[in-house]
Amino acid sequence: MTALSPTPLAQTAVQALLPTAIVGSLPKPAWLARPEVLWSPWELQGDALVEGKQDALRAAVQEQRRRGIDIISDGEQTRQHFVTTFIEHLDGVDFENRETVRIRDRYDASVPTVVGAVSRRAPVFVEDAAFLRQLTDRPIKWALPGPMTMIDTLSDRHYRSREKLAWEFATILNQEAKELEAAGVDIIQFDEPAFNVFFDEMKDWGVAALERAAEGLRAETVVHICYGYGIKANNDWKATLGAEWRQYEESFPLLQRSSIDTVSLESHHSHVPLDLIELIRGKRVMLGAIDVASETIETPEEVADTLRRALRFVDADLLIPSSNCGMAPLPRKVALEKMSALSAGARIVREELRGA
Ligand SMILES: [Zn+2]
Repeated sequence: MTALSPTPLAQTAVQALLPTAIVGSLPKPAWLARPEVLWSPWELQGDALVEGKQDALRAAVQEQRRRGIDIISDGEQTRQHFVTTFIEHLDGVDFENRETVRIRDRYDASVPTVVGAVSRRAPVFVEDAAFLRQLTDRPIKWALPGPMTMIDTLSDRHYRSREKLAWEFATILNQEAKELEAAGVDIIQFDEPAFNVFFDEMKDWGVAALERAAEGLRAETVVHICYGYGIKANNDWKATLGAEWRQYEESFPLLQRSSIDTVSLESHHSHVPLDLIELIRGKRVMLGAIDVASETIETPEEVADTLRRALRFVDADLLIPSSNCGMAPLPRKVALEKMSALSAGARIVREELRGA
């Protein structure tokens, strides 16, 4: 397997140097779902819910543009959760039939059960993505869960093989991704936080399943690997990881040789040694320069400093300043100000690079 270099972004979606992007979720407006909680139930129903989600999506796009974000995401305004919502739309999974399992080896959760062959009865996000496409001329990015992260939130009584189930999900994700691409999505991101936990499986079949999910796409592809939302279970886990977080050392060499264009990683305020980025040399890097586990707003200078340090290990034309992870659990005002800080910090470094 040889390393595939990403298509130059100038030829595809993004013209600007250091284009900014958020990883995924933004807080939802309080009239749509209760703020500052994950899996928050909808406050609306029926047609009002459909309209409410679209209004929230409009607001999310407007705020990203106003705050200088170059690659526009949906902020996950139309979904309850980045993994569960996708799975809810599949056949073969029984949401009434729940079992308690350990998620990413970290916390127990009551999860649905796979009871038959999994399949996608209809496109899941394609209509929402087409709606997003109409709202902006800027490049748009859509996130899907990765196959390994999907199986980690389920109990399986049908396949009884994590690898087999992941492979089935990869095939389904590939169908969805191709339809998102046809709806005008420029960048398709797979969220695989499980790659920071299950190293043996990742090596055996996890990266192959991810490549299967991304197979044949013309759109840019991203894999997002992080240390999770700023919720207690994740923060407690991080406290056990020691002074240096070297988990990426396991995944990066494999991803460097993979067909995935971009790697999205956590950096600001995390204990990830930045020189690990060297392991994905040649790939585009979406670098987390915004801490999502803290409500303190970064200063533009702090963001710039994180980006400058990363530029020792990634070429400037391959760097996308970003957030560490999704911002759904944050107060809305904080998330919006963090986007402004991100673009202000990127602007500082962009001007330095142009002046150099
Ligand atoms: Zn994340």
